[in-house]
Amino acid sequence: MAKRPTPKKQQANSQSSRRYKDFQNKARKRLLNTARLNTCPKCKEAKLQHTACPTCGEYKGRQVLNMDKKVDKITKVKA
Ligand SMILES: [Zn+2]
Repeated sequence: MAKRPTPKKQQANSQSSRRYKDFQNKARKRLLNTARLNTCPKCKEAKLQHTACPTCGEYKGRQVLNMDKKVDKITKVKA
């Protein structure tokens, strides 16, 4: 087993809680930055940045998704 140094002084509770809060805040910021939400200029619905709007199918002022096509719900899986 690897030898580890023994702690020289007892750590105050505030010190460890401050370290944990810093870690928490960094993790929260990282999660917030992963999914950026914008509002669609056409239907004003929330959508992911750099993606077509799932409700109206528009991206950068042009229609990219065919919203007329109806997709049936999958109820049975073929073997
Ligand atoms: Zn839209």
